Amino acid sequence: MGFREIPGQERAKALLQQALRSGRIAHAYLFAGPEGSGRQDTAIAFAQAVLCERGGDDACGECLSCRKVSHGNHPDLHVIEPDGASVKIEQIRELQRELSYRTAGAGYKVYIIKSAESMTVQAANSLLKFLEEPPSPVVAILIAPGAQAVLPTILSRSQLVPFVPGDRERMEALLTAEGKPRMLARAAVHLASGPAAARALTEENWFAEIRNVVIQLGKENSSRFPGSLLTAQQQVIKTNLSEHVDTLLNLFALWYRDMIYAMTGRHDRMVFADQAEFIAKHAWSRTIEAWAGAMESALAAARRIKAHVPPQLALEQFLVNVREG
Ligand SMILES: [Zn+2]
Repeated sequence: MGFREIPGQERAKALLQQALRSGRIAHAYLFAGPEGSGRQDTAIAFAQAVLCERGGDDACGECLSCRKVSHGNHPDLHVIEPDGASVKIEQIRELQRELSYRTAGAGYKVYIIKSAESMTVQAANSLLKFLEEPPSPVVAILIAPGAQAVLPTILSRSQLVPFVPGDRERMEALLTAEGKPRMLARAAVHLASGPAAARALTEENWFAEIRNVVIQLGKENSSRFPGSLLTAQQQVIKTNLSEHVDTLLNLFALWYRDMIYAMTGRHDRMVFADQAEFIAKHAWSRTIEAWAGAMESALAAARRIKAHVPPQLALEQFLVNVREG
């Protein structure tokens, strides 16, 4: 994942690549911007470039260090994610211990804190001392939805790197230029949190299968309920797709949104553009409010799976809720 593979975010990339070129890399960066804008991909790209054995303003992607970053096992790159709902002080202390050891190579150590806004006050205060007196050379990358989402004391010690909302059309164009099927790319950029995740989705066989199942269930549920329950059993629950019911539901929400797009004349925005003929005909069978309600049901069911409701139960209840017949 080099900077060259990240679409858009020109300002953020320019700022980071200028630092790499000049060798004046700050102790701490705050990557501030919305979900899906490529903050995590950019954090990995920056870390990879900082750690790259060949130097320069982008990672070479080939040296041992670059390959270790790609495989997620570089000893000098530490990634912290919330443990449950928050990043906790124990995690920051553990990080500080890890960083106090000598580097594997001669260069930098890099750490990334995802959802930095979720740090507990204790964690943030513990990190603060560390940002002030880092055991050099260390680079911190904090990821948050906005500059105001972290404590002012942390903000003032970090260089702000602003991210604008992700440009889905550009991401889709990038993926199709790489030879990914357009319909899969279009669905993936709506579901993934950034270009790397979208690319990975388009390369999964199950993702193409899930997309087909959504189309089938969407059509069946409109006319042949409870046949759709049987389809869900046979093609999802009893197959390897059962691990991806949350993705199926999120995609289903986009199916219903396409109905609204059809009714409001925004056909160019459809995710299931290859089904435009069916959608255009079928959309008028319900009101916009009904489709919006179905969309919300799909998203609510996906959230229930995250909250550990069994996927089969969540999917079946969803299909019952949104049946049209
Ligand atoms: Zn390299």
